[in-house]
Amino acid sequence: MPEFGIGIDLGGSKILTGLMTLDGEILSRRLIPTEAGTQAPAVIIDKMADSVMELMAEAGGARKIMGFSCAAPGPITYPHGVIMDSPNLGWQQVRLKHELEKRLGQKVIVGKDTDLAALGEYYFGQGCQYDHLIYITVSTGIGGGIIADGTIYHGTRGGAGEFGHMVVNPNGYYCFCGRQGCLEAQASGTAIAKMAALTMSGAGNDWANQSSGVITAHEVGMAARAGQKEAGRIIASVITDLSNGIANLVHIFNPQIVVLGGGVMQGLQDIMLKSLRERVMEEVFPLHGAGLQIEVTSLGSDIGLYGCLAAILQERDK
Ligand SMILES: [Zn+2]
Repeated sequence: MPEFGIGIDLGGSKILTGLMTLDGEILSRRLIPTEAGTQAPAVIIDKMADSVMELMAEAGGARKIMGFSCAAPGPITYPHGVIMDSPNLGWQQVRLKHELEKRLGQKVIVGKDTDLAALGEYYFGQGCQYDHLIYITVSTGIGGGIIADGTIYHGTRGGAGEFGHMVVNPNGYYCFCGRQGCLEAQASGTAIAKMAALTMSGAGNDWANQSSGVITAHEVGMAARAGQKEAGRIIASVITDLSNGIANLVHIFNPQIVVLGGGVMQGLQDIMLKSLRERVMEEVFPLHGAGLQIEVTSLGSDIGLYGCLAAILQERDK
């Protein structure tokens, strides 16, 4: 009887694999640092397959495994799992699903990392029991996933959920995509660091103790907590733009819950979550705001693995 699922969470600088029971206990995990910018895709996919083989042996062989799933940065096609042109990985036209299946001799469900994170929340996290859920990750970039009627909404080719490239301020910062005022250019960790760097060059700024010339989102958060005005203004601006983005999504999808994840959001939730909730509630129609939950993920950095397991379970129950 299959008792386990194996998940692979592929990021720009790491591969995280996990062996999990079907009720969501992570029994074993392996974290392998990678350099997607310099290592060829085939080298990294080999490492992914090797790691899965080790976990499979640990489980007692392939017959013990219910399914395999891999979460990868987008844009990635669904269901064919082709990475198109990933800014995170620097990969172009890599047939990830095909290459993994070839190496493992097993079917592998491959999905966009933020889509699977949304599904992970739906099965194991804050979104349990909510059939209409929006997941937004705020880290170095911003992305998301949509659960509609209990399943991932992929769009035609897997491209749905690119919330980071929703314009929230047409007069805002330029985004790498070429547009102006994308949510990612206004409220990601990268954007926060950029805003801090801009204030640093201004006269009479409060960043005098920063000798390195680089201020991270984490440091902006610490300065804001300590009452530093420029940091406070940056956080306020991030809250404004994020709440505009969330309110747009709430009006479009009418979810029961919005789950926020990503390193920046989890790190700054103490100074952002309450204001975000209040502003979103002010901005949405009563129909959309009634009963609406806005929460931070409880799955932490394992959210990708939980997402993979959720995809395996959903496939089983089809
Ligand atoms: Zn953009």
